[in-house]
Amino acid sequence: MLLSDKYPFLTNYFTTALSSSKRALPQSLLFYGNDLKSQYILATEIARLLNCKKDKSDNCDCLNCKWIREGSHPEVKTISRIDNKPEDDDSKTVISIKQSQMIKESLMSESEFHRVFIFCDRDTEGNICGLNPLNFQAETANSLLKIIEEPQPGVTFIFLTRYIDDVLPTIISRSQCFFVPSKAAVTYNYSVIENVFTGYFEFKRSDVFNISQKLQDLSGETAISEILSAIQNYMLFLLKANPNQTEIIKHIEFVEEAKKQADLGMRAVNIFDNLCLKIIN
Ligand SMILES: [Zn+2]
Repeated sequence: MLLSDKYPFLTNYFTTALSSSKRALPQSLLFYGNDLKSQYILATEIARLLNCKKDKSDNCDCLNCKWIREGSHPEVKTISRIDNKPEDDDSKTVISIKQSQMIKESLMSESEFHRVFIFCDRDTEGNICGLNPLNFQAETANSLLKIIEEPQPGVTFIFLTRYIDDVLPTIISRSQCFFVPSKAAVTYNYSVIENVFTGYFEFKRSDVFNISQKLQDLSGETAISEILSAIQNYMLFLLKANPNQTEIIKHIEFVEEAKKQADLGMRAVNIFDNLCLKIIN
């Protein structure tokens, strides 16, 4: 499946960022969410857009696009505890300092390509997994900070993780973070909130606490996490129909934050008040 079909909104965002100006794309990106496979596909697609020598179309047959589809591009590298280890590196459970040094040394020389480093993990079957405090430890992460923040044309770092908190704050603060919705889990079922929340983008600022109250009332019978998932499903449903409305992506992230507050046991009134204040203008 073509990425532009699968993630029209994110693809659109990156295509616009990449075509408007060379500096528009941040040097460091972080993707988070449950669907690591899709994150990886998105990361390689960005690498392809950055390296394509022809029209950047989904079916482009230029050498760069071909290499990237085959996973053999010389400057688009997956960095994991398994991939791209220097010869003298016998670490097996972590992305190592030696790998970080290897990257730094490679950046000392010029390249005709746009270099992309995709940081992630792999399980024993080779499936893409996310970074976490065990496989991407502070020492290695901190050794990368200088090259991540120092503007260097033609270099992009992409970090993949399930939970944003699994990556050090020092990396997060230097990266632009994007929630990548799970393709597998999305059923767009939002019946729980249908009567209360559909058409929320037309609500008035003065409705904020009224809507929040209605959501709180639902939480008498339905778990808060379920209500929030339904809200998120509704937003994903909207996104599918309106792929250019990137503000919906922001809203989905706010709901993701609300889910975390629910996990921490915050009260329904606070969770829904906060959320409604953020997304109803
Ligand atoms: Zn191409």
